[in-house]
Amino acid sequence: MGGFPLTYMSAPPKAKPAPANEVVDFYTETIDVIADAVHKNAVAHGFHPKGQSDDDFINYQLNNLHDEISELHEAWRSGKFSGFCDKSDKMLALNLPPLTCAEEEYADIIIRVLDQCRHLHINISRAIAIKHLFNLTREFKHGRQS
Ligand SMILES: [Mg+2]
Repeated sequence: MGGFPLTYMSAPPKAKPAPANEVVDFYTETIDVIADAVHKNAVAHGFHPKGQSDDDFINYQLNNLHDEISELHEAWRSGKFSGFCDKSDKMLALNLPPLTCAEEEYADIIIRVLDQCRHLHINISRAIAIKHLFNLTREFKHGRQS
């Protein structure tokens, strides 16, 4: 028994919600460090042109985010989800472990979200923590019948 994937012999233990501030601090410290780094890199690579309005930024960036989701879906649809991504040779040349298509595209999605939120001054780490705490209180399948 054990190993991956994890299987439960019975229903998984119900999480006892931690005090809000404790959970918020945990998520904030971790995600904020990554968000700061990816935003700094995006600025350095020219993805935040000066003078761009927030409306133009949001329109352009949401299209990019949608493209990443489409790339992830295409990887799955074409049977390449678990195969190495097209940048894996370059990753190896940089002494980085190669990523699968799924790993790369999920990472792209998260990186774009963190970068956009930093640009728009949205405290996404706080929002994730609060939304997670809220979700812990919701009904099974959020009260919808399957
Ligand atoms: Mg991508």
